[in-house]
This record gives sequence, structure tokens and C-alpha cells, in this order.
Amino acid sequence: MAYYTAQGAAMEVTGSCHHLKIGKIQILIDCGMFQGKDEELNYEEFGFDPKKIDYLILTHAHLDHIGRVPLLVKKGFNKKIICTKATYEIAKLMLANSANILQEKPKPLYNIGDVEPALKLFGAFLEYNETMTLKEGIKIGFKNAGHILGAASVKIKFKEENIKKSVVFSGDIGQEARIITSKVDFWKKANTVFIESTYGASLHENITLSTKKFKKHILQTLKNKGTVVIPSFALERTQEILFLLKQMSQKGLLQGIPVYLDSPLAINVTKVFGNYPRLFSKKVQKMIEAGENPFDFQELQTTYSKEESTQINKVNKPKIIIAGSGMCEGGRVKYHLVRHLSDSNSLILFIGYQVQGTLGRKIINHNGEITIAGQHLKIEAHIEQIDGFSAHADQKGLLKFIDNLKGLECVYLIHADEPKLEAFKEKIKETLHQKVHIVKRHESIYI
Ligand SMILES: [Zn+2]
Repeated sequence: MAYYTAQGAAMEVTGSCHHLKIGKIQILIDCGMFQGKDEELNYEEFGFDPKKIDYLILTHAHLDHIGRVPLLVKKGFNKKIICTKATYEIAKLMLANSANILQEKPKPLYNIGDVEPALKLFGAFLEYNETMTLKEGIKIGFKNAGHILGAASVKIKFKEENIKKSVVFSGDIGQEARIITSKVDFWKKANTVFIESTYGASLHENITLSTKKFKKHILQTLKNKGTVVIPSFALERTQEILFLLKQMSQKGLLQGIPVYLDSPLAINVTKVFGNYPRLFSKKVQKMIEAGENPFDFQELQTTYSKEESTQINKVNKPKIIIAGSGMCEGGRVKYHLVRHLSDSNSLILFIGYQVQGTLGRKIINHNGEITIAGQHLKIEAHIEQIDGFSAHADQKGLLKFIDNLKGLECVYLIHADEPKLEAFKEKIKETLHQKVHIVKRHESIYI
């Protein structure tokens, strides 16, 4: 008998954690952190005994998929962690950074000392299009999810009373058109799919159009002698931005304009990206083969230390600053916002989704003023938002992922808020005529 139980990302976007019991074997797919409005859920006990989990499979290195791994290990999990090599290398950086951020909270979930034992359990690497046999003949396979570097969707195959069964966990699925990494690969068959539905109710702006807007906004600001501040996520989005800026640099559009990458995490993640040329799009691979670094160019300066970072403030000429965090909740971007939000020539360029309640969202929806780090500021800078760079597939992409699967008995929707789930469910029923179920947290499902 095989049972699935939702332990997170059910009728919510964060805290991905899916428990699968096949006979006596217990498998966990992802162990992510709850973020934003659901943060308090991190303090609830796991809905299973961590000591009894036989395998932990990680789809990718975003914190809402790996952020509670050190906690799981602290609570007794001590078996293999299965993921791609790239996910492991990025997870090392993300978990150490997460531990540091958690220390600023009143009740830190874990500390840096808890990250080390968790990292020791990694080492069972599975790459795209490979399979691995677990106990009792259970087979797992990975395909490129096209979401971020190293991200995989997982297929688990097993037998129940001699009947073959298969279940796909989508992980987070990327758009078909990506800026730097290679695109999503589809599974062809499965009885059951658990699919992320983050953008199940909407369509993204075309990526080419978003790229054009990105370059146009930057050039206009530089022409006005202003500064461009780009709040950016350290993982994948920053590398995409560096790649686009390199294109501008190669065309001679950034001559004399310093570009600062002001985030130690993003600087480290960019180095890891350089180790995986085969995971990039053909265009980027060709560039690497020709001896070019796709994320470096003449005008780029990385500011790792605090001292180097504060020097940026002394540069009184047009410049571009890329800094974290992506939603302006922490990190160095806050100082740059304080410095430039009241400058009418400058531009704050948002290139990622801003969750409700975050400083990023407040700036976008501003009414002319804002308070940051105790400073009351008048907002005079231009504020622009570009949404076509999303690392998630939109409704069309998600429908294609499902439509590629032959032999489906039911589609289970996870990883989205309720109104989006309802809209996506209706769309699937209407267009693909499949049985659909919205998964609730702690719900147990026989598969
Ligand atoms: Zn993700």
C-alpha cells in the first residue's frame, strides 16, 4: 500500500514537504521552510517521525524546498539525501546563509552548527535522466525541471501486488524560455502527478519583451545620470541579470558605468554556476566553450566585504547596483534604497515577484513616502517592475506538463494559494478533462 501525506505547500506556496509511505519505506520529497505569512508553521512538530524516514529527496535548492533540512537532522533524520550535485553545492551556501539570517529571529529554528551535520548526509547524487534503485525495488528518476540550476522533477516507480505504479512530483517547474539555464524536460507517463500551481491562474509576459523593457529602463536612467538599483534574488535571477548586462556591455552600452554586484551570497552562487556548463542553454554553453565567462564583463565589480560595499555610496556618478534581498526584506539593498529612493533621476528596478507584506511590495504600491530602517523617505525615484523573468511556468506551461503525461488517473495540485488552485483546477478539467484534487495540509491520500 502506498500513501501520500501533505506536510507543507498544500494550499500555500511555501514549506514544500511531501511524505510518501510505500510499504514499510518512508520517503520525504523536500523539507522546505514556511515563509512570509506562514512562518509560524516552522515551529510545529513534523507530522511524521524524522528518525523513521529512509530517504530524503530534494528537488532544488530554494529555501522553501530545503530550509528545514537542518531541523529534520536535528530531530533525528540520519539517512541519505538524494539530489543533483548542483543542488547540493547551492544548498551548502543557502543553508549557511539561512542559519545566519535565523539568528536575527527571536526563536532561531537552527544555527550554523546544525547545518554541518545536515551537509554530511548529502552525497547520493542523481542527475537528469538517471535512475536510482531504493530499498524494496522502488525506483526514482530525475528530469530537468527548468526552474533553477540543478532543479529536478522526480518520478517514483514501485509495485503494489504486482501492479506497476508511478508518481511524479513536479518540484518547481520553469518556463520553457529561459535566459541562461536549459529548459524544462517533460515526463511522458505517470499514474499520479503532484504539480506545483504557483502561476496556475495566470500567464507571464513574454520573456523577450521583458528583456527589452529591462534594457530600455536601464538605458533611460543612465541617460538621466541616475543610479539603477536592482533588488535581486541571489540564486539564478542575479546570474540572469549579469548575463543580460554582459550583452549590453558587449554592445558598448555601459562604457564607464560601474556595475556593482553587492551580495556575498550572490557572488558565491555565481561561482558555483560556473562549475556546471552542461546545465546551461546552448547559447551560454557556446559562450563558455569559446572561453568567455557569461557572468563577467569589464564594468562589473564584486563587493564582497562590508568595507567594499560602503565605498559604493561614495561613487557620485551613474551606476548600476545589484543587491539582495530580492524582496528588500534584508541584506544590503536596504541601504541603497535609503540612498536612492528620493532621487528623481534614479530607478528601482524590480525583476522578481514581491510577496504581499514585504518591503518590495510596499515600495511598488507606495503613496509617495516610506519608512526604511527608521528613516522616513519621500519616494521620488522611478519604480518599475518586470515580471516575465519568472522561474516558474505559467498556466500554459503547467498545462503542458500535465498534458504530456499519459496514463494519468488523478492530478493533485500543490504549492499555491486557494483562489489560484481553484482557478487552475477548473482550467485543467475544462481543457484536459482530467480528475483533479486540491491537496490539503496533513491530508493522506492512497495512491
Ligand atoms: Zn523554487
